Amino acid sequence: MASAKSGSLKLSEDIQFEPWWWQARARSTLPEPELPGRVDHAIIGGGYTGLSAALTLARSGASVVVFDSGDPGDGASTRNGGMVGDRLKPGFPALTRTFGAESAKAMMDEAAASVDFIERLIIDNGIACDFGRMGRYYPAVSRKHFDAMTRKLEAEQAAREVSAVMVPAEEQSQFLHSPLYHGGRLHHDTGGLHPAKFHDGLLAAARGAGARIAARTAVLGMEETDTGIALETGVGFVEADKVLICTNGYTGPATPEHQARVIPVTSAIVATEELDPDLVSRLIPGGRMITDSYHLLNYYRPSPDGKRILLGSRPGLGGGNDQKLASYLGRRLGRIFPELDGTAITHCWSGKVAFSFDTFPKIGMGGRIGYAMCYGGSGVAMSNWLGHKLAQKAMGDLAGRTAFDDMPFPGKFYYNGWPWFLGPMMAWYGLSDALSGGTRR
Ligand SMILES: Cc1cc2nc3c(=O)[nH]c(=O)nc-3n(C[C@H](O)[C@H](O)[C@H](O)COP(=O)(O)OP(=O)(O)OC[C@H]3O[C@@H](n4cnc5c(N)ncnc54)[C@H](O)[C@@H]3O)c2cc1C
Repeated sequence: MASAKSGSLKLSEDIQFEPWWWQARARSTLPEPELPGRVDHAIIGGGYTGLSAALTLARSGASVVVFDSGDPGDGASTRNGGMVGDRLKPGFPALTRTFGAESAKAMMDEAAASVDFIERLIIDNGIACDFGRMGRYYPAVSRKHFDAMTRKLEAEQAAREVSAVMVPAEEQSQFLHSPLYHGGRLHHDTGGLHPAKFHDGLLAAARGAGARIAARTAVLGMEETDTGIALETGVGFVEADKVLICTNGYTGPATPEHQARVIPVTSAIVATEELDPDLVSRLIPGGRMITDSYHLLNYYRPSPDGKRILLGSRPGLGGGNDQKLASYLGRRLGRIFPELDGTAITHCWSGKVAFSFDTFPKIGMGGRIGYAMCYGGSGVAMSNWLGHKLAQKAMGDLAGRTAFDDMPFPGKFYYNGWPWFLGPMMAWYGLSDALSGGTRR
């Protein structure tokens, strides 16, 4: 199966190195911020986490200001693949070994609840963002991976309800038309959206509820005073009763304790030129989100209009400059779909996701300062959910309890925010993928 010929994609002459999603994004028309002297809540970061927190706080009547060093959304929240998932990185058996069956179940239930939450958020706020629960297919790159997936699913289904089935290789063409895989796992309940349209809608909802947005205003540092937290920003000082750090993969020196605990990892995506929609729906019948089982996994999907295919992965050693990155991702796409031979790539972009050292999402509120971050590559639903929970915590509302409370947020003596070890790690993953019949560079 894995010996099929690769298709060779080419780079369009006018390839653009910014997200294809931005074509449909309402570019910021936010006015220059007029900062108040004091607010109830200052939020650092205007991605999904920060805006979800801001919406909850503003709706409760609190005064809120959201700072973003760029235009809100310029981080991962308008760059992602738009896949709305309910999986946690370590998988159910590993969660059970680490935390016991009850906590593992609570965490997985909460990941599923995050999908319901974002759906409600979209409906309640009338956000037109092409959201749908079309499901996700996880193809296995080897027979061994297929067997491991089967065991994991059986273990999880013995403990909780999971709307998923294993799909043997012979039946796979109902979901995916690629010679590369050995069957896979189909999840019914999850889905996808247009990430930039969703961010636009969330931003409008937060502003409509009264949250102030300080775009292009970096927080440079903060200090606890007798009456609150004094934030130094690019345009002056603001005092806040509470500060919520929602900076995820862009966490920097303004919050050094978090920077030393967050590992930023680059993820990159390419979009093809417009294709015949019949070809797209033949390659990915049902228009599902797809995530395969390589270490340096490929995630791909049709664009919401069904005319393009978007594929993302970690650059590994295939990074380098923009052109090289686009070619590298194009080779990965050509290997999955040899029929795309000769197709042009029109867009390529990257952004940063965040991992914690133990790979679990992190949320906490200690005194006046709280944070929510580290969703790995699956933060579209989780960031909105934990942003909301963080806001509840900041208000002292017990509804803000989550299954991820009271977990350590470990740092390492050898780490201060510069992930020097990622290069060798990615090389190792690439090698191990190649040995498992993986995508060639
Ligand atoms: C290429 C890519 C593909 C992805 N695909 C998927 C996917 O398909 N499905 C999925 O579930 N997840 C995906 N993710 C992950 C998902 O996008 C993120 O988990 C989510 O957007 C995180 O939102 P956030 O608000 O926490 O962080 P971000 O959206 O990254 O926002 C953080 C913000 O903090 C701001 N900031 C940082 N420091 C400061 C400061 N000192 N002062 C002011 N502002 C500051 C930054 O400017 C940034 O805007 C992907 C991510 C990337 C990059």
